[in-house]
Amino acid sequence: ASNVSVKVAVRMRPFNNNEKAAGSNQCIIMNKEHNQVVIKNPEGKEGGEDKVFTYDYVYDSCLPEEDENYAGQDTVWDDLGMELLEAAWAGYNYSLFAYGQTGSGKSHSMVGFGEARGVIPRACEAIFKKMRGDGESSGGGGGKDGDDVRYKVEASMLEIYNERIRDLFVPMNQQDKGGLKVRDSPSTGAYVFGLKKIPVVSYSQIERLMAFGTKNRTVAATNMNETSSRAHTIFCIAFVQTVVNRDTMKANDIRSEISLVDLAGSERVSRTGASGDRLVEGGHINKSLSALGNVINALAKNGTSKGKKKILVPYRDAVLTHLLKNSLGGNAKTTMIAAVSPSEDSYAESLSTLRYADRAKAIQNVAVVNEDANE
Ligand code: ADP
Ligand code: MG
Repeated sequence: ASNVSVKVAVRMRPFNNNEKAAGSNQCIIMNKEHNQVVIKNPEGKEGGEDKVFTYDYVYDSCLPEEDENYAGQDTVWDDLGMELLEAAWAGYNYSLFAYGQTGSGKSHSMVGFGEARGVIPRACEAIFKKMRGDGESSGGGGGKDGDDVRYKVEASMLEIYNERIRDLFVPMNQQDKGGLKVRDSPSTGAYVFGLKKIPVVSYSQIERLMAFGTKNRTVAATNMNETSSRAHTIFCIAFVQTVVNRDTMKANDIRSEISLVDLAGSERVSRTGASGDRLVEGGHINKSLSALGNVINALAKNGTSKGKKKILVPYRDAVLTHLLKNSLGGNAKTTMIAAVSPSEDSYAESLSTLRYADRAKAIQNVAVVNEDANE
């Protein structure tokens, strides 16, 4: 077992058309060399000084593309994708989640748009490439010379909407109204009971499944971003390598669960002008995300209080935190991408995102290689 801190990346998107039209100023500056983010209070003196944060990775996508410090989808993939592949092949659980207000670039990093593919499609493609042996090599695999390796890949996709879990691989009209439930397994931790896990044999098959799941999501309009989803979307890959020793014919399974989480917008409800049904959704989103905040705070305290008595982590307060128990403080290598807008109009939301991300750095996970004899 190895103790690993949660890694945190902060990514700043370019100005969008609204921000450009409003002529808004940039309030966040990134320093790549020192992995620092500086946020300036647009109100000046009364609002207090600049605040400086340090993270594991900082990605400035607000620079011109030709700038040497510009971070595009390739830059993000080079760091996080390699971590993911290494963990998968070594038999560690890996989890990546994107946090930030609506429109800050969470889905851009996770899924991407058009040619600018994000981490999820690239990871799926890279896994199949590496299985065939023509990927860039990275990290220790399960099989040594003289071993035969068989692979199994299964995909699942769900959303948490109003505290209910929906299977995105099941058509809307065949869904169980009450939603699926999270259960705890003594060996593998929290999982969704009855969630469809579809065996996949190629990247194009995963691509089609993802397109189906994405269309199947619950999407509601808010003033802030018409197409933004008010739900948390989780894409999972279960990856198993069965390693057979040619001499002894003994077989071992090396397992890795990869969870890729695109969280709902972190903005407060008042800002979106939500009302009626939308307000109920907002309330629940706040419930799940504030539960996530409480879990992060508790874990951060435990992570920094050496030897002292650990406080109870309230995983059970929301579906999201119950399900992410492995990823937060448990058996997984975890990275968070905090997405921010460059604009001073989003100062308050960005500051709150940067603080959230700052606390997440203190979380200690205990990652173990998942390996057992294949019966
Ligand atoms: P979120 O998922 O957080 O609501 P999106 O990922 O949908 O936000 O991003 C909002 C818009 O900004 C999209 O049109 C997206 O293409 C664009 N965008 C976000 N991040 C970047 C980036 N790093 N580079 C270029 N465009 C981006
Ligand atoms: Mg999104």
